Amino acid sequence: MRNNKFILLDRDGVINVEKSYLYEIKDFEYEKEVINSLKRLSKLGYKFVIITNQAGIAKGYYTKEDYFKLEKYIEKDLYEKGIKIQRTYFCPHHPDVTGNYGIECKCRKPAMGNFLKAIEEFNIDTKKSYMIGDRISDLIPAENLGINTVLVRTGYGKENEKKLKNLKQKPIIVNNISEFADYIENYIEKSFVK
Ligand SMILES: [Mg+2]
Ligand SMILES: [Zn+2]
Repeated sequence: MRNNKFILLDRDGVINVEKSYLYEIKDFEYEKEVINSLKRLSKLGYKFVIITNQAGIAKGYYTKEDYFKLEKYIEKDLYEKGIKIQRTYFCPHHPDVTGNYGIECKCRKPAMGNFLKAIEEFNIDTKKSYMIGDRISDLIPAENLGINTVLVRTGYGKENEKKLKNLKQKPIIVNNISEFADYIENYIEKSFVK
C-alpha cells in the first residue's frame, strides 16, 4: 500500500540559499525558517526526501566525493535539529558535457527517475504528497506522477514563476517554505489538528 505522505524537496534554493554549484560546507546557508517549517510539517506526520540535480559533478566543478561530504553534512545537521531526511536522491549527469557523467539520463529533473525510486522505496502516497521546488523542472516530474506541486519564490522561484505555462496545472505558489507550512496547517490538515 502506498500510504505514506511525503514532502519531496529540491535542495538548492529551497533548503539552502542558491549559490550556483554549491559544494563547500562553509558556503552552505539555510533558507529562512526552513528548520522551523520542516519541524511543523514533521509534526503533522510528513516525512522528507530530497531530490537534487547536481550537474556540477558532470561539469567537473566538484567531485562526487565533494558532493557526498555536503550531503552528509546537511542530513546530519538537520537530524541534530530534529528533522530526519529519509534519503537524498541526486543526479550527477548532464547531457551536454563529455566524460562519464555526460549522458542523457533518467534521473536529471525534469526526468522522473529519482521520483520513481523514492515512491517505490518509501511507498509514497502521491496524492497526499508535495514536491517543493524553485524551478519548473522540479515540478514537471511531480505533476506527471500525481504529486502535488509547490513553487517557492526563494532561489530561482521568482524567475520560474514566468514559466508556469509549462505545467498542466497551477502549482501552489508560496513566498517561502514557512508559508507552505501555514498552508498545510490551515487548509490540508486542519481537521486533524486540535
Ligand atoms: Mg533549486
Ligand atoms: Zn542523472
